Amino acid sequence: MRDPEKIKQKQKPQDPVDETLGENAPRKGGRRQFWRFCSYYRPHKKLFLEDLFCATIIALIDLVFPMATRHAMNVLLPGGQFGVFFWLIAGLFLLYVLRSAMQYFVTYFGHMLGVRIEATMRRDLFVHMQKLSFGFYDKSRTGQLMSRVTTDLFEISELAHHGPEDLFISILTIVGAFLLMLSLNWKLALVIIVLLPLILWFVISNRRRMLSTSKEVKSRTALINADIESSISGIRVAQAFANEKREIEKFDAGNTRFQMGKRLYYRAMAWFFSGMEFMTNILYVVVLGVGGYLMLLGEMDAATLVAFMLFVNSFLTPIRKLTQFMEQFTAGYAGFERMCDLMDTRPDIEDSPNARTLGSVKGEIRFEGVSFAYDRTKVLKDLDLTVRPGEKLALVGPSGGGKSTLCALIPRFYEPQAGRILVDGQDIRSVTIASLRSQIGIVQQEVFLFADTIRENIRYGRLGATDEEVVEAAKKAEIHEDIMALPNGYDTFVGERGVMLSGGQKQRVSIARIFLKNPPILILDEATSALDTETEIKIQRSLDALAVGRTTLVIAHRLSTIRNADEIVVIDHCGVAERGTHERLLHQNGEYAALYAAQFSVYGGEEEANSQQRKDGRKKV
Ligand code: ADP
Repeated sequence: MRDPEKIKQKQKPQDPVDETLGENAPRKGGRRQFWRFCSYYRPHKKLFLEDLFCATIIALIDLVFPMATRHAMNVLLPGGQFGVFFWLIAGLFLLYVLRSAMQYFVTYFGHMLGVRIEATMRRDLFVHMQKLSFGFYDKSRTGQLMSRVTTDLFEISELAHHGPEDLFISILTIVGAFLLMLSLNWKLALVIIVLLPLILWFVISNRRRMLSTSKEVKSRTALINADIESSISGIRVAQAFANEKREIEKFDAGNTRFQMGKRLYYRAMAWFFSGMEFMTNILYVVVLGVGGYLMLLGEMDAATLVAFMLFVNSFLTPIRKLTQFMEQFTAGYAGFERMCDLMDTRPDIEDSPNARTLGSVKGEIRFEGVSFAYDRTKVLKDLDLTVRPGEKLALVGPSGGGKSTLCALIPRFYEPQAGRILVDGQDIRSVTIASLRSQIGIVQQEVFLFADTIRENIRYGRLGATDEEVVEAAKKAEIHEDIMALPNGYDTFVGERGVMLSGGQKQRVSIARIFLKNPPILILDEATSALDTETEIKIQRSLDALAVGRTTLVIAHRLSTIRNADEIVVIDHCGVAERGTHERLLHQNGEYAALYAAQFSVYGGEEEANSQQRKDGRKKV
């Protein structure tokens, strides 16, 4: 299982996700994407065909009514065949019962089909996202990724269900109605067909305007939401500076822009609906007029004219549906393309095809000529370093020197551009990532707790652990008593919207996780922020207990905590500057000695101990 905790990341570039994807994701041809879309129907073929079948029945029943009306008016009623007439009425009644059953099926199961496809796509996407490396997440915005998995997919689901069905029913009804009208009176049918492109042109052009204004409204809404979110997150700062008025002004500007956007949208909408109504009514008037004229010429009877009027209605519904389809297609297919882009982003760190499982290791780590750079920032160059099993190695040096980066290379969160890293003599690229990471425990400064109980948060270290093992790990991490003091003990909810734990408590929860995981290799990122002395002692004690018998790399910020390290490596912007024991490095009087002196001039109280230590060190060397 992948360790959920991340090595701290700095300088996150603000590139939107699309730019990231652009690098790795080749643009795929439209046809290939179309088949890919269709492939999601395959597991639901039966349901899909049933859905289309029901849709066909609905379309056919809709065509029956005008014909039945005409037959009744022309033949049955004038001929006094009331018996047959009432059978016809009963038949129509039954047909409409059947139609509503079909409608139920199409609405319910059709939507469920869409939902199933959406769920499969969402799962594919989520599984894929789990594989993408730190490098990818460094460059992507969480908000954008979220919208890929939620909003985009919802639109795809709507398209997946309504798309084929709307297209199918509409074309079937339009063609069916047209053929029937042709058979009744081709002249009047042609008049309607001539008017059709005019209506279509009006609908399409106006829908497009509505779509663009609605997009504008969406983007303005997104902006106003982002502004509100930023203002609320920063409300403490705003209040501290008494800048509430400024915030309200900023909000007002966004709110006005939003109103303007909505105004344009509603104007387009008003134009569309009034125009559409006009077109529809005019179509009726034209059919009535031309039909009346044809009656005058004796080419048509009244019942056929009524049937035509009814057909006009069944003609217009599919046209509206088609335009709706176009909208859904635009939104849904764009969402699908964005999804494909993400799916086609290859994970840059993957198991090699013949990767072995890394068994339980002793914990030797060797860096051989390792060079690493983030895009443009060169961090490590030709680094050689060996950590013996069970050894405690401290990494010190100026901030930004590359200590965290070095540690992030061991679990393969990032891949070096040159050189190799060996664990117990095995190149880490030759073993599976999961087995490698199962051998490594990471304790970070910033601890992430899931919105769950504290028990489950600790159990995250080893998912199969029993409750007793969880408690034991908590005791070892010196957090047990703090947990027992919480309102619901181990069942207390923590994380988002849960009980607030202090920084020190969270840190000990993360240490308890690692006790449960019990890995032979440990990476500790010491807390930089000042904790109160008691907490610090507790954490230090539990960290020391954790390190026993494990190969430990400590990113040390407080030099007082690493005096007893087996080896100290000073990493600065040029790579490894010095290495040796505490005493030796002090004796060398180089970078480490300078760092050490600087720290103790800040922590004045320890000055004396420090100078004593230094003297001791010199004596020993
Ligand atoms: P340290 O742990 O010694 O403070 P880091 O390993 O965090 O140093 O950083 C080394 C250099 O790499 C710094 O210049 C930092 O800005 C850069 N860096 C760190 N993380 C990332 C990242 N995720 N993407 C790009 N650059 C990074």
